Amino acid sequence: MKTAENLKRSFYEQNRIRYCLFLALTICDGLANLVVSVLLKEITDAATAGSLERIGGMCLRTVEALAVISAMSVALYHVRSSFLRHAVTGYRKRVMVGLLGSWRASEGKSGSGLSSLTNDVSVIEDDYLQGAAQIVSNLFFLAAALCLMLWYSPVLTAASLLLMLLPIIISALFGGKLEKEFQAVSDENAKFVKRIQDILRGFPVIKSFHAQEAALKLYVGHNQSLEQAKYRRNIVDGRINLWSVLGSVTTQFGIFLTGGYLAATGKGITIGVLIVFVSLLGQIAGPIGQLPGLIARRRAAGGLIRKAQETLLAEKREPKGGLAPGSIGTISLKNVSFDYDGHRALEDVSLRFEQGKSYAIVGESGSGKTTLLRLIMACYDQYSGLITYDDVDARAVDMEALVDHISEIQQNVFIFDATIRENVTMFQEFPEEKVSEALEKAGLGELIRHRGEGYLCGEDGCNLSGGEKQRISIARCFLKDASVLLADEATAALDAETSSHIMSEILGMEQMTRIIVSHKMNPGLLGQYDRIIVMKNGKMRETGTFEELMEQKTYFYSLYNVAN
Ligand code: ADP
Ligand code: MG
Repeated sequence: MKTAENLKRSFYEQNRIRYCLFLALTICDGLANLVVSVLLKEITDAATAGSLERIGGMCLRTVEALAVISAMSVALYHVRSSFLRHAVTGYRKRVMVGLLGSWRASEGKSGSGLSSLTNDVSVIEDDYLQGAAQIVSNLFFLAAALCLMLWYSPVLTAASLLLMLLPIIISALFGGKLEKEFQAVSDENAKFVKRIQDILRGFPVIKSFHAQEAALKLYVGHNQSLEQAKYRRNIVDGRINLWSVLGSVTTQFGIFLTGGYLAATGKGITIGVLIVFVSLLGQIAGPIGQLPGLIARRRAAGGLIRKAQETLLAEKREPKGGLAPGSIGTISLKNVSFDYDGHRALEDVSLRFEQGKSYAIVGESGSGKTTLLRLIMACYDQYSGLITYDDVDARAVDMEALVDHISEIQQNVFIFDATIRENVTMFQEFPEEKVSEALEKAGLGELIRHRGEGYLCGEDGCNLSGGEKQRISIARCFLKDASVLLADEATAALDAETSSHIMSEILGMEQMTRIIVSHKMNPGLLGQYDRIIVMKNGKMRETGTFEELMEQKTYFYSLYNVAN
């Protein structure tokens, strides 16, 4: 329960007054019905008394009451719209802030994130926010109606109370089941959204393998399970509604029959009182019938909020300490081993990276190079052994603090549909000459001059070549003054000439510690590294300068000879 409090609070932040007004007006709106009931009774009384004067007076009262009720309704829909707008915007923002605050949250999580931000929000808006006001208003209305009834006949009211237990029992019986079904719909929706994303993203590859049939089959499967889950929810919802209606009809008839019996046996109930009860009963039937459904749906929507909150919490790492300002001097690994779900990826690796030096990591694919970089980036906690930045335990360092010190050139570069310059600066402010320098060093200056400053990169960079995207990633690193540069097969997508040009630029950044995973066995480049680390089957097989390793004529030597 507690975990959802944080997100729930976002509905009411700077929105409390609107919320109170919304509740108050919804309650008044409900109570207006009672006024109508009392007015009807007064008019009947006037008619039975045969007083034209009283009837005339009631005309005026009725007009006044209608004017007040209409004014209230206008205020209500204004306040409701305004409250909902602020609440939903606040909630969506809080979810996004949570997503952005979590580390690498989007990896494999975009489906549930999307669902939390779209489909679930409308359910929450209707059933949780509006539902709350409806429930409170119904309860107030019932309480007021009960007072009126008590005023007219305590005996009949007592009988009514007993009969009204029925709808409450129904709510208790079905609430949990409905919550589960709502949850199931949300889960299926998340999977469905994820599948659509996969298909749309993988469109070119699906087409080129003629895999439309298979993609369609996957899609149809999820499409069906989503609708199946909705169907089950609707059935449960329908069943609850049926029982609610049956319950309220039973309540009405029961009360009416009891009233009739009391009137017939002359136990203090006049026909006039019975008429008021009939009118009141007609009016409370609605709220009583709605309550179980409203309560059950509100609980179910509360479950969606809880789910969103839990996803965010699960992805968020506990805040930890920072690093001293300035640069990270040395990074060291001592006897580090790491498993992916029981599958060993690194075994007993001990290494020391010194400030300002350049390191190449080489090895066959699957030998653990990427995993090693990820551990240096503190992406994982569950390793054995020790990783330290200047003697600070990596486990105690906050990711947020670390990204200021470490730049990473990614293999899959994310490109926003914005200009090249914006993609490099990531929409942040930098001194103009620094940006130009970074653009030139990464070989993007020419591209911008050629295509124009306003040239847009397209969705996920579709207007750029793989190499150009890579250069944007490299320019981002040039721009960011980090003390460590990590690159994972960074120039894989570039042609030999550009690649060696960029690698020389990177190797020339002597103020940075450079740790580069390289799969190109280019002697000219490998010779420039201060040290080469050779990985094999998750272990560090050997290490040394290019000349030393070539002289040893062991594993690296054979790798090199196979490649060249
Ligand atoms: P390299 O970068 O040298 O090609 P990796 O470090 O990516 O190798 O992978 C090392 C081993 O760990 C491989 O056997 C690979 O299949 C496995 N592996 C890599 N990433 C994951 C992951 N996210 N989940 C499970 N296993 C993984
Ligand atoms: Mg790799």
